[in-house]
Formats: sequence, C-alpha cells, structure tokens
Amino acid sequence: MKSVDRKHLAMALSRIPDPPEPETMREQVRTPGDLAADFLLLAQAAGDLEGKNVVDLGAGTGVLGIGALILGARRVVGVEVEPRLVEIAKQVARDTGVSDDYEAITGDVSRLAPCTVTDVLGAGADTVVMNPPFGADRRSRAAGGDRVFLSLAFSLAPCVWSMHLASTEPFLRAYARDAGYGYEAVRTVEFPLPARFAHHKAQRLTKQVVWARFVKSDRS
Ligand code: SAH
Repeated sequence: MKSVDRKHLAMALSRIPDPPEPETMREQVRTPGDLAADFLLLAQAAGDLEGKNVVDLGAGTGVLGIGALILGARRVVGVEVEPRLVEIAKQVARDTGVSDDYEAITGDVSRLAPCTVTDVLGAGADTVVMNPPFGADRRSRAAGGDRVFLSLAFSLAPCVWSMHLASTEPFLRAYARDAGYGYEAVRTVEFPLPARFAHHKAQRLTKQVVWARFVKSDRS
C-alpha cells in the first residue's frame, strides 16, 4: 500500500484554499484538511482508492479528489457546479503535481448523465468520494440535498465514500438498500460548520457527521 504520512497529508490538504464567499447561497462546507486526510486514509485502507478510477462529486476546491490522487488513485474527475471552484481545483492539481491524472468539470449533479462523467474519466468509475451538501439549511434541502448526490453516485460506481449528517442514518441505510447497496458507518466525527450556518450566537457550530461506505451488494 502506498504509504503517506497522515500529518503530511493533512498539512498538504489544509493548504488547499477555502471556496471564496459563495455568490449563491449554495451550501458549501469544505472538508478541513485533517478530516479529509482521515477520511481518505480510511478509504485507502479499505482498498477503495489505490489504482482506482475515482469521481469526486461536489468537488469544491478539490480536496477529496486531489487527496485521493496523493494516496494512489489512478485517475480522478471532479464535478462541481460553481465554475470558479472548478478553476481553483484545477490550479490546486497543477500546484500539487497531480494535474496529469486530474480533471474537473462544471456540472450539476442533479442533472448530469453518468456517461458525461465516465467519458471524461475515460473508464468506468470504481469509487466515488464526496462531501455533499448536508441539507442543513432549507435551500439546500429544497435542491435535493445529499439525495441527488447519492443517486448519481450509485449510478456511477460500485463503491461510494460519503459524508452525511449522522441524524440521517436511518434514511441512508434505507436509501442504500433500495438502490442495492450495503451501508457501513465507518466513523462519526464532529464536523465544523462555518459561522453563517448559526441561527443564533449560542448555537453549536459543529455537526455530527457520519463517514459512510456504500458497496454494491452483488460485489464480492
Ligand atoms: N468536496 C469539497 C466541497 C464540499 S462542499 C470538500 O470536501 O471540501 C459541497 C460542494 O458541492 C460545494 O462546492 C458546492 O458548490 C457543490 N454543489 C452543491 N450542489 C451541487 C450540485 N447540484 N452539483 C454539483 N456541485 C454541487
């Protein structure tokens, strides 16, 4: 297994810029470098990254996809609806020295045909990694929240690593079962939310987030 020191990976991923203040009110909660490192190291240890064709849905500034390449993924395509973030992700890939194996495209996960992604990947996807909008605010819930992300992820790959509000676990389990996927809660973490998600000052600015691994049931 490609051995990458956790501390160095976390530092490298922490240097990836935050998304600039969003023009839209789309929910953008970037994964902090240390959490991204832990999430990806777990996926790597499960054998789901090395040598794999990976798709990063809602790529933001690229942290999960670029981290997957650092950990030995074969090729990664990021999909992000905000063109400004796509440009940042591509620049980060160049700065990190992984741009030969990285591509990012502008696209809306709720509308994208799976073949648009696999055409860019040049192969079928093995693994999806994603930190979708949690549906933590009304607008993001109305846009389908993490549901539309899971739907596209399941049509793309037999293995999906994803982050969700821990309170939605019963839904995740049922949704996965109906799609023919097994659900495994790998770890639950405190995920920091930006201050703009607080409704009043005293509100806790972290959420319990579950790191989930979904695997297609007929896969041995
Ligand atoms: N993967 C990054 C960003 C997570 S935030 C990280 O882990 O840091 C979720 C991202 O999904 C945001 O960048 C947001 O712009 C994007 N997004 C939200 N709705 C989307 C949609 N319908 N299609 C594609 N991207 C979307």
